[in-house]
Amino acid sequence: MIITTLDNYCQSFIVACTLKNVEKEAVLYERLPNHKVRCLACARYCEIGKDQIGLCGIRGNKEGKLVLFVYGKVAACHIDPIEKKPVTHFMPGTKVFSIGTTGCNWLCKYCINFDLSQRRKVEGADISPEEVVEKALLYRCQGIAYTYNEPSIFLEYARDCGVLARKKGLFNAFVSNGFATPESIKMMNEFLDCITVDFKGNGEQKFVRQYVGIPSSQPVFDSLVELKEKTNIHVEITDLIVPKVGDDLDHAKKLCKFIYDLFGPEMPIHFLQFHPSYKMMDFEPTPVATLEKHYEIAKKEGLKYAYVGNVPGHPLEHTYCPECNKVVVRRYSFDILQWNLDDNNCCKFCGNKIHMVGKLDKNFQEKRFEFVF
Ligand code: SF4
Repeated sequence: MIITTLDNYCQSFIVACTLKNVEKEAVLYERLPNHKVRCLACARYCEIGKDQIGLCGIRGNKEGKLVLFVYGKVAACHIDPIEKKPVTHFMPGTKVFSIGTTGCNWLCKYCINFDLSQRRKVEGADISPEEVVEKALLYRCQGIAYTYNEPSIFLEYARDCGVLARKKGLFNAFVSNGFATPESIKMMNEFLDCITVDFKGNGEQKFVRQYVGIPSSQPVFDSLVELKEKTNIHVEITDLIVPKVGDDLDHAKKLCKFIYDLFGPEMPIHFLQFHPSYKMMDFEPTPVATLEKHYEIAKKEGLKYAYVGNVPGHPLEHTYCPECNKVVVRRYSFDILQWNLDDNNCCKFCGNKIHMVGKLDKNFQEKRFEFVF
């Protein structure tokens, strides 16, 4: 079982691995003639013949039925601050029990979790939905995050965890590439409270074809429309900016305009710095000036809450009041250093209402990762 990188904010917890073989018939699929099936979990819509598997490597056709091979098979788990997702306008200061499986529906050449996402093997510890919720409560998390690889590919498992989690007062958050379908978004709506949808390289077609392995980002745009029109799930947008090949400012402008037109000015957008990884070790990290240009474009297009991410200590990690321009939430990386909002999430300096779901968690500082049993 892989445990994600340790850092100052997090501790990892190894869970018992009993090596059972857990698999379950999927829900998101339809049967086709000749024992074939069509998977409806993501916008690849794989048509899978008997005894074959889909592109993600963890959904396959067994005797004419689509099976989710990683049901209850957790390949990575970690306790994270919600700000790490990155999510900055939903349940601030909370900690989330984060889980992921092997496999992914995208083939990003720079993936920092490639050893999980590009592994076409079913591996991990066996953890039932009940045990996931138990662990989250044991470690005093306020929510569960489905992350590290694309969660829509293991949606039936996430849904079963999420429904139980909600009953116990926990929230559910997805870190997703948004390459979803109307059917998968309908299932997300049964249990999901928050989703961060990650664009790559401003969603530009040439970039995503060459570096992500998808024909276009159009399904991601379609998913955002579906999320907006059919659900009340809190959405945040991220955009990984890759230097030279995925940093086109005209496409950044188009993306920001789309976000503004669909969601309005309150939608948070995070421009993330790329770091060399996997098959793109010969690229430099994104220059900070490039990220700042993206920030300027977002502001010009009217988005009130734009951020620069993966650059700890940068002033654009903070939330600024759109009215008086004072810092209302001061951050360093995933930590909250100062909170200048009142009980109604209004700016303490000028009274302007700030778009924020939930109040600051009482354990938001160093106590967030203290465990008392
Ligand atoms: S979830 Fe996997 S099997 Fe299903 S359509 Fe996407 S890549 Fe194909």
